[in-house]
Amino acid sequence: MSFELSREHEEFRRSVREFATAEIAPYAAQWDRDHFFPVDTVQAMGKLGLFGLTAPEEYGGADGDFTSLCVAIEEIGRVDQSMGITLEAAVGLGINPILTFGDDEQKQRWLPDLVSGNRLAAFGLTEPGSGSDAGATRTRADLRDGEWVVNGSKQFITNSGSDITSVCTVTARTGLTDDGKAEISTLIVPNGTPGFTVGPAYDKLGWHASDTHPLTLEDVRVPESYLLGRRGRGLAQFLATLDDGRVAIAALAVGCIQACLDQCLDYAGERTTFGVPIGRKQGVAFQISDLAVMAEAARMLVYKAAAVKDGGGGASEFKQAASIAKLYATESAVSATRIATQVFGGYGFMEEYPVARLYRDAKVLEIGEGTSEVQRLLIARGLGLPVE
Ligand SMILES: Cc1cc2nc3c(=O)[nH]c(=O)nc-3n(C[C@H](O)[C@H](O)[C@H](O)COP(=O)(O)OP(=O)(O)OC[C@H]3O[C@@H](n4cnc5c(N)ncnc54)[C@H](O)[C@@H]3O)c2cc1C
Repeated sequence: MSFELSREHEEFRRSVREFATAEIAPYAAQWDRDHFFPVDTVQAMGKLGLFGLTAPEEYGGADGDFTSLCVAIEEIGRVDQSMGITLEAAVGLGINPILTFGDDEQKQRWLPDLVSGNRLAAFGLTEPGSGSDAGATRTRADLRDGEWVVNGSKQFITNSGSDITSVCTVTARTGLTDDGKAEISTLIVPNGTPGFTVGPAYDKLGWHASDTHPLTLEDVRVPESYLLGRRGRGLAQFLATLDDGRVAIAALAVGCIQACLDQCLDYAGERTTFGVPIGRKQGVAFQISDLAVMAEAARMLVYKAAAVKDGGGGASEFKQAASIAKLYATESAVSATRIATQVFGGYGFMEEYPVARLYRDAKVLEIGEGTSEVQRLLIARGLGLPVE
C-alpha cells in the first residue's frame, strides 16, 4: 500500500497554505488574545471548499478523499491551532455524523449549509460525569406523543455556541436494552430550540479562538424524526465518528509540530549567543533535528491512516491506525512545543512569539477525541491483549 501524497494533494496543500498565510496567520495572535471567534474567516474557509472536501456533490461538497481533509487541517493548524480545530470539529464531528447516519430528509435539511461553511454543527457526547466513559451518559430522551423530550447536560462542546451554529447532535439514554443496559441513541437538536441553553464560553488554557461551551437541555422537545441513525446505536455511531476524528486531530498535531520546526529553524539562524547563531550549538541543533523526526514520523502515521480509510481498509485496521496516529502525533506535538519554547529561551515564554501560543494550544491534543490513555487502551485491545 502506498501513502505517498499525490501531485494533486501537494497542489491542494499549496493553495490551503497560501490561504492560511494570507487570511489567518496575520490575525491569529490577536484572535487568541481577544478570545475571538472569527466568523468571517470561518466562512472564508467555507468558500474555499474546506468544509465540503469529503461531502458528496449533491450537498455541495467536492466528493474528495479523507487525505485532502487531513492536508487542509494540517496546513490551517500550522498557522493557527484554533482555526484548525474549528475546521476539524466542523467536518469530523459536525458534518460526519449527519452525513453517515442521517436519512435523506435530515441530510437535505442540514448538510448544504454545513458543507458550504455558512453554518456549523456540534457533537455533544461529553457530559460533566462522562468523558472517556462515554457510555455513562446521564442525558435522557423520552418519547412522548411523537416527540423526544430531552433532559441533561453536555460539556466542552466545540463549535456549539457560535453565531453561526445551527445544530448539535447529542447522545441520550432512550431506554434499556434487553440485557438491562442503557440504550443510547443520538438526537438532532437545533440551536434555539426552547429549553436548549448554550452556556458561556469556557476560559481555556489554549484554543482561545475556538468556540467551546457547556450545554443544558431542559424539557427540550424535538420531533420523533430527529432521531439520528438507529435507536440504540447512538454510542456505536459516535465511537465510529471518533475514529475519523482521531486521524484529523493527529493531522492538527502535525501542523503544530511543523510550526515548531519552522519557527525554530528561523530563530536558530537569527539568534546569536557567544558570538555565533545558536544553531551552531549542538545542544540547540540536535533538538531541532528531533523536531524534524517527529514531524516526519507523525505525518507518515497520519497519511498512512488516511490511506487506509481512502483505500477502503477494514474497520479494525483503520481503528488501530487512527489510534496509533493520534497517540504518537499528539504526544509529539506536546514535546515539540516544549522543545520550541526552550529553543526560544525567555522569548519563548512571551506571547509575542507564536511558540508560546503553540505551547498552550498543544496540551489539549492529548485529551480531546480520546485521551492518550484511551488510545493506549484501544491499541492494546487491537493487539489482542485482555486489557480492562
Ligand atoms: C477544548 C475541548 C474541546 C472538546 N470538544 C468536545 C466536543 O466537541 N464534543 C464532545 O463530546 N467532547 C468534547 N471534548 C471532551 C473530550 O473529548 C473529553 O474531555 C475527553 O474525552 C476526556 O474526558 P474527560 O474530560 O471526562 O476526562 P475523564 O474521562 O474523566 O479522564 C480523566 C483522566 O482519567 C484517564 N482515564 C479515564 N479512563 C481511563 C481508563 N479506562 N484507563 C486509563 N486512564 C483512564 C483519562 O485518560 C484522563 O487522564 C472537548 C474537550 C476539550 C478540553
